Amino acid sequence: MSNTKLSFADILLPVPIPRLFTYEVTAEHIDKAEPGRRVIVPFGQKKVLTGVIVQIHGTKPQNYDAREILDILDDQPAIVDQQLQLIQWMASYYMCTPGEVLNAALPSGLKLSSKSMVQKHPDFDPDDGAHTYSDSEWKVVEALEEKEHLSYDEISQITGVKNIYHLIKSLSAKGAILIFEQLIEKYKPKKERRVRLQASLENDLLALEALFQKLEKKEKQLELVMKYLREVPVNELKDRNQLGVSKGEFLASGLSTSSLGTLVKNGVFEEFDKVISRFGEPKKKEAVIPELTSLQEEKLSEIHGLFEKKSTVLLHGVTGSGKTEIYIRLLQQVLDEGAQALYLLPEIALTAQILRRLKKVFGDKIGIYHSKYSDNERVEVWNGVLSGRFPIVVGVRSSVFLPFNNLSLIIIDEEHESSYKQYDPAPRYHARDTAIMLGQIHHAKILLGSATPSVESYYNAVYEKYGLVTLETRFGEVQMPETALIDLKDERKKKRMHGDLSPGLLQAIEQTLEENKQVILFQNRRGYAPYLHCEDCAHIPKCANCSVSLTYHMYRQELLCHYCGFREPLPSHCEACGSAKIKTIGFGTEKLEDDLKVLLPTGRISRMDYDTTRTRSTYEQLIENFENGEIDVLVGTQMITKGLDFDHVELVGILDIDRIIHFPDFRSHERAFQMMTQVSGRAGRRSNNGKVIIQTNNPEQPVFHLVRTNDYKRFYQMEILERESFHYPPFVRMIKVLFRNQDKQLVWETANHYLKSIQTSLGGHRILGPQEPLIARIRNQYHQEITIKLEKGGISIPKAKEFLTQKMEELQQDKIFRQTSVIFDVDPQ
Ligand SMILES: [Zn+2]
Ligand SMILES: [Zn+2]
Repeated sequence: MSNTKLSFADILLPVPIPRLFTYEVTAEHIDKAEPGRRVIVPFGQKKVLTGVIVQIHGTKPQNYDAREILDILDDQPAIVDQQLQLIQWMASYYMCTPGEVLNAALPSGLKLSSKSMVQKHPDFDPDDGAHTYSDSEWKVVEALEEKEHLSYDEISQITGVKNIYHLIKSLSAKGAILIFEQLIEKYKPKKERRVRLQASLENDLLALEALFQKLEKKEKQLELVMKYLREVPVNELKDRNQLGVSKGEFLASGLSTSSLGTLVKNGVFEEFDKVISRFGEPKKKEAVIPELTSLQEEKLSEIHGLFEKKSTVLLHGVTGSGKTEIYIRLLQQVLDEGAQALYLLPEIALTAQILRRLKKVFGDKIGIYHSKYSDNERVEVWNGVLSGRFPIVVGVRSSVFLPFNNLSLIIIDEEHESSYKQYDPAPRYHARDTAIMLGQIHHAKILLGSATPSVESYYNAVYEKYGLVTLETRFGEVQMPETALIDLKDERKKKRMHGDLSPGLLQAIEQTLEENKQVILFQNRRGYAPYLHCEDCAHIPKCANCSVSLTYHMYRQELLCHYCGFREPLPSHCEACGSAKIKTIGFGTEKLEDDLKVLLPTGRISRMDYDTTRTRSTYEQLIENFENGEIDVLVGTQMITKGLDFDHVELVGILDIDRIIHFPDFRSHERAFQMMTQVSGRAGRRSNNGKVIIQTNNPEQPVFHLVRTNDYKRFYQMEILERESFHYPPFVRMIKVLFRNQDKQLVWETANHYLKSIQTSLGGHRILGPQEPLIARIRNQYHQEITIKLEKGGISIPKAKEFLTQKMEELQQDKIFRQTSVIFDVDPQ
């Protein structure tokens, strides 16, 4: 070819290195090279990685030799331009690398992985006497005569050697084998075996007739042809034969498999594979749009009015006010316009109930995206968004990464939920804030919904950055539940407690059950008891790897660390003094469930927490059983506070909320208010008899009054004053710098060194720490943290972030300090 001009591609790779990598695009790939397509490239010594083309150009890199792209995977972009923009924004906002964001964004089914394989060295001659070989080595050599290449697992099987690295190294050194990387495509399309008539019979009626005559005596074969023509009639053969029929269904009525085989052999039928969707083919279905009440209609048009002027609107509607119906109407409009919509939920726990309602309206136009789906399913949702198969996506935080190209609406339900924030690993992003940015990239409208908006969002609404729409009454004018407080100090003094239940709450439970209604009890601590305590020496069993006490789980008779998973059997004697007087202190959901079974022998008690809902099905089953009235009392952690909608719950009991109120964090009051209001909102959604009972040691705390009167505005006013006077969000932007190392002294020194490097330029008043966080050691790593508060308007926040990153890079130039991992957490929750 005469064209000698070279082409290069800048590739984004899923690695934590803050730059793009330039590779050469050879002539064979040039036609397919286009931004957004995935490529395979060599990386480092032996690795190959899946990356994404960001741009194509003709500039040779200055300081290194560009290696060649190995292959281009897609026939069209798998990543759209808007995603690349979002990835860039997230990397700079959340202080991580674009590669880390890409790694989180791509479902693992779209990332090829490589596997080490072994083949015989072409020059290898086992009889040249240059080396001697062990028995295991001979086994490998012999196996490679039979099979061209072997995986490490296969070698391990053949030789019976578990750790084969030594063996492979030795064979490689003797020049017997070569090691290479084989790429493995993780996504496997689902295929269906189908049957159709040979194409030659499609148009040739005479040939068909001849076939009938020929088969006259072959009853079973004739039957098959007849059946096929019943399903695909002769006059439709031209259009429909190509697609054929499912082989499984075709033979399902007991027709002969061997006769079909004969017909295939004789060139009458042919079998083929068709790639099918794991979610079924789209069906045409008329949508059943719910009727809105006149109040909902009014609010809907308020939202429309505000969207004329603002891109973001906050819908503040009390629990049970019917926000979902409004969402449905908005989604329907997006469908009518032929655009895309994203409906974000804070966690999978919520999806089942909402999905059922949405599916009634939108059928299979909804794609669902969350981590409990398999890799293959996630790839199909990804591709379905690209192809337009799923104009609506319902999903948890990672669905902000999907390849939308025509997004016109984002609904962020329960926008106050802290589970929208990803803690680990990078990017440590908040899906609500990221979705707002995603909306801006697409010029989409964004609707935030909550009964207890986050202080930040409400502040934005008060200052008219967002539009605000308020729904103050429940759907159908059902009353808000009545809330009562029980003073635990008083009850304990009078020795009236039944374990951890006050007589008032116990009585209310009994009464509710007598009326055939249901009860939810909220206890935000799983396990049986948060710790054990020796009555003789006061020893408390602690985790071997973390600075926390071990939680006693009665069901498994063991002590468990909730931070690292460390477990040990329940000790019969104190490990410090040998005493047998070991007592449990405090209580968790397990103990509450256990006590209730004794106190309410005929009641059907169940528990919903992390331990009982490990899989999607166990969770859904529990919800379904509760909905169907097969459970009387549901005990649960904060999982049960979130958006669930039950018809027959009339009593909600809140236990142990004091611990949440007094948790040392600036959001603790907000959290307590949200949790109590949300869980209270599960009571009496269809009746006027909703009742909430809160047990506390400090009934005089103002937050209880605010919950009782359902006074969000007053709560906000009190809270925002505190935030302003103590310099917390939304008045400042917080960044946490976390340091982790096994060496306690070193992590402290590293944090202090970093502090010194930023102190002067940033101003000491903006920096807190270094200090040990509440739990100073997790998984044998000691932690230190520095908190930086950047006031809005006083300092350029992007510049400050750049400065902090630069100082961190400088820190990591140092051999000693480099051993400590440093993590930025922007907007920590
Ligand atoms: Zn002891
Ligand atoms: Zn631990």
